[in-house]
Amino acid sequence: MELSEACGEGLLVRKIVEGTVVDHIPPGKAIAVLKVLRLWPPKPDGYRVAVVFNAESRKMGRKDIVKVEGHHISREEAAALALVAPSSTVNIIRGGVVAEKWKVKPPEVAEGLLRCPNPTCITRKEREPVKPRMRLVSKEPLKYRCVYCGSTIGQDEIEGYILV
Ligand SMILES: [Zn+2]
Repeated sequence: MELSEACGEGLLVRKIVEGTVVDHIPPGKAIAVLKVLRLWPPKPDGYRVAVVFNAESRKMGRKDIVKVEGHHISREEAAALALVAPSSTVNIIRGGVVAEKWKVKPPEVAEGLLRCPNPTCITRKEREPVKPRMRLVSKEPLKYRCVYCGSTIGQDEIEGYILV
């Protein structure tokens, strides 16, 4: 499949040969996606990144798209991505074509990905803190519950608790 098919017609940016296209991002979430991929704020020596806000989408009406040149995102990055943009699809581009394509999936257990909202939780102790583990309790809307203290984080709050 050609990259142009993967990320919609009429894009103003050139094709990438090696990299990642994150497609079907809910409109308005592209910056949150850049943050979890550690691409925001942009650095002068960082990857070349193209962002499209409010692209046409048959499926979603509007969508955002993020293209990262020279970086194939990892499964860990994809797990964090699923927390802020659960509808998104990842296209891994190799040699100018889509080599892999998958829908992101919120992890059943988010380990070390989300900070517990409870300030007295064992995972937030300053001395010997325990690695935070949050279990997925609902997919739509997203909801996670702390394995240790039972505190929950809902879809709207997730961005503020992401650790990566
Ligand atoms: Zn907790």
